[in-house]
Amino acid sequence: MKEVAELLKAKGLKVTPQRIAIFHMLCNTVEHPSAETIYKSLQETHPTMSLATVYKTLDALKKAELVQELNVGEDSFRYDAKVHSHPHLICLSCNHVYDLHTDLLQDLREKVAQDTDFELFSEKIYFYGICPECQKK
Ligand code: ZN
Ligand code: MN
Repeated sequence: MKEVAELLKAKGLKVTPQRIAIFHMLCNTVEHPSAETIYKSLQETHPTMSLATVYKTLDALKKAELVQELNVGEDSFRYDAKVHSHPHLICLSCNHVYDLHTDLLQDLREKVAQDTDFELFSEKIYFYGICPECQKK
């Protein structure tokens, strides 16, 4: 928790219990939760925190580049404390969002730069499908 407060401070953000709680949660999950999911999961420990506060806090964390927002389609946003560019897999059945661990991205970047003469800064890559768990159902 202390580290989380330090990270907030380093980015010039005022350290509030809400910011610590939300950022701490995002740093300790691989689930890519939505604002609603974050709100629900913190209700027990932070019963006075409103959904509006969760949105406002996510906005501040996003602007400070401590979290990234993933647009997973149909105005649905998910949050990730891993801010470096990395590909995601999205299950269209359970809506889980997974990190894709691959070393193919470096090759892809080089190929795209070569083929287009673009000076590339970033990319957003999403794969959509049905996860192994949902295929069993
Ligand atoms: Zn699934
Ligand atoms: Mn991710």
